[in-house]
Amino acid sequence: MVRQAAFKGLRKDKPAREVTPDKPVKTPMAKLSTKSKSATPNPSAAKAEVLGVAISKPDKAMWPDGGDGEPVTKLDLAHYMESVGDWLLHHIKGRPCSVIRAPDGIKGEQFFQRHGTMGQSDLLTLVKVSGDRKPYLQIDRVEGLIAVAQIGGLELHPWNCAPDEPDVPGRLVFDLDPSPDVKFSAVVDAAKEMRERLEALGLASFCKTTGGKGLHVVTPLKDAKKDKIDWKTAKLFAQSVCQRMMDDSPDRYLLNMSKQKRKGKIFLDYLRNDRMSTAVAPLSPRARDGAPVSMPLTWAQVRSDLDPMDYTIRTVPGLLRKTKAWADYDKSARSIKAAIKKAID
Ligand code: ATP
Ligand code: MN
Repeated sequence: MVRQAAFKGLRKDKPAREVTPDKPVKTPMAKLSTKSKSATPNPSAAKAEVLGVAISKPDKAMWPDGGDGEPVTKLDLAHYMESVGDWLLHHIKGRPCSVIRAPDGIKGEQFFQRHGTMGQSDLLTLVKVSGDRKPYLQIDRVEGLIAVAQIGGLELHPWNCAPDEPDVPGRLVFDLDPSPDVKFSAVVDAAKEMRERLEALGLASFCKTTGGKGLHVVTPLKDAKKDKIDWKTAKLFAQSVCQRMMDDSPDRYLLNMSKQKRKGKIFLDYLRNDRMSTAVAPLSPRARDGAPVSMPLTWAQVRSDLDPMDYTIRTVPGLLRKTKAWADYDKSARSIKAAIKKAID
């Protein structure tokens, strides 16, 4: 059988008469080894497949240390995506999704990829959005997540639009960014305060670690299309929520981006709430030391002893199976129009 035959040229190194048909020969049946890994002399030459997607260089270390002293390999990443894929996909499906790629691992070069490319895997979707001629990358199936892992995509940053409605706000993300001298427990307090403020406006919210320094408070929205609420209005609303919170505690919070003014304070970043703005997806790994993950939490877990580094590529699949975090996400979606009305009253 000839697979993928291609004509490469005529051999000049061999006289034609030496070329004869190959005859099949009997070989002793190879024994299946239970230690297939150790049977491979060169690990980087090993082939691997996850959900039918081929993973090249499966043993390449993407993170030098997964928090347990062992490197997190490309195959580990693909298996992580396989195990959390359905949960994760629910929050990125139907939305343009940028990817932070680090083909040589987190210590190598990183780039933020928004657009689809020629010759990208057909497991990934291309989506046209107004205002850009080049199509954006979108991930709509679990195999697509594996394909992203295969190309060294470590972080997923979706738009916050409603699924399949790039122009319609689908959720608000409040990004709480502490200055380095702020204790994490103060960020926890800020998240809880944000939740209460949103609740007073009739909006439910969900908290996640970012895998970094802060926390994200996420509010699912419904009916923004029906209510004709665009991002300009939604962003203004998010800004006003943050503004009031800062006005009430100017010593703890600020809205200004300037780094110097941030000292000792938490920056309430409402700027994720715009048409083309992104925020890291829940369950996305981060290209940072220790292979942390942006972990969806229950509000009971948002306590002063919360440690974002408890949530890594190694630990999250097991923890996700047990948690009820974000279980009510869909049915908690509320109208932002009603919230705006409440805020004005
Ligand atoms: P932390 O808790 O450490 O602040 P974070 O996810 O909130 O974590 P960043 O990684 O600083 O913070 O990202 C800030 C935002 O900017 C993210 O929401 C992300 O979607 C976006 N972003 C990240 N990298 C880029 C980039 N290279 N170009 C454009 N946007 C980016
Ligand atoms: Mn942040």
